[in-house]
Amino acid sequence: MLKKIKIVLFILFISGCARQIMPLSQPNKNKVNDSAIEQKSQTTPLKEEKKSQKTTKVKKVEFEKTQKISKVTKQKSTAKSPIESYCDRTDRAFKKHRWGKSSCHDIGWEYVRTSVKGRPLVWTSFGKEGSTKDVTLILCGVHGDEITPVKFCYDVIDYFKRIEEGSIVSEEIHGEVMDFKNRFLVVAPLANPDSFFKKRPTRMNANGVDINRNLPTTDFKADAMRLWKSRYRRDPRRYPGVKAMSEPETVFQVNLIKRFKPLKIISVHAPLTMLDYDGPADRHTGGLVGSRANQLLIQMSEQAKGYKIKNYPFFPGSLGNYAGNERNIPTYTLELPSSNARNHSRYWNLFKKSIHHAVMHDLHSEVALDKKTEGNKSQKSN
Ligand SMILES: [Zn+2]
Repeated sequence: MLKKIKIVLFILFISGCARQIMPLSQPNKNKVNDSAIEQKSQTTPLKEEKKSQKTTKVKKVEFEKTQKISKVTKQKSTAKSPIESYCDRTDRAFKKHRWGKSSCHDIGWEYVRTSVKGRPLVWTSFGKEGSTKDVTLILCGVHGDEITPVKFCYDVIDYFKRIEEGSIVSEEIHGEVMDFKNRFLVVAPLANPDSFFKKRPTRMNANGVDINRNLPTTDFKADAMRLWKSRYRRDPRRYPGVKAMSEPETVFQVNLIKRFKPLKIISVHAPLTMLDYDGPADRHTGGLVGSRANQLLIQMSEQAKGYKIKNYPFFPGSLGNYAGNERNIPTYTLELPSSNARNHSRYWNLFKKSIHHAVMHDLHSEVALDKKTEGNKSQKSN
């Protein structure tokens, strides 16, 4: 008998639990809410029942409303373009480094390929593509742990945007009229986004390759891996990759050069505190381009309070080697004094004039002259 009572009590207990558990197992959230309303009204005294029903109804409406809103935001977030997501991420990085709000969302970006992690490898341009041979390419953020260069390129973009819009009269800056009628400027502010956006940014890309050692220079096959093992003692920060051009971030740089055929390149790094030049050597060995390019190097230094010029060696797979040495494109590597994000405005103010002047500086006419000279030379030798 006692056993039977125990069994009956046990069944009653189980059914009670089941009633409590059942609503939670309902997959529909609205139903969960309904059952919550049910439970509430069960425990409410009769007098207050109507009142509570009203409140629960209001709550239900509110709940449905928030569901609708969250659905809309969900739809919006899934509909975001890669550029919008990229700029949201850029905004967060700017906030982290206390750089204020980035102009990323307001810039007309272009991109063809993406990084290892699928982020767009973007550039923006000033002037009309193909309308002139006076093309300058400015590259930043090749090494993700060099923080200041990325902001530097955004400052470059913001500056030339204001010039293009006419809100800065360029004569005020440099005493020269600046427009993009006869010049073209391409700026790629972040060649290595995966590394820059990391919580702890790294020099190498997401595959652990230094994308400034992965360019397809003629000495890559023979020397890149050999030097990495011997001279650099397998330093992971300088790993060139097994094959040249194995990384999308490297292909990105090469394709910018192939597509736009810049007459000069400025690549911004940190923190070696120097201005390095690779390209046609000087007036004696590099013809007039070399002469003009070296003149520009000196002027860039002078306009930045005599910033140190240093002839830094180039490496297998480096940009200075690929563009400057092998393709005779005057390539200026500007190494800012530090990667300390707080110094960003100091660096931009120091180099604003130099960058303005470098973009202004027309090497094209000199190239034409140079070709003429070369023609004369070949005529003579014939
Ligand atoms: Zn670097």
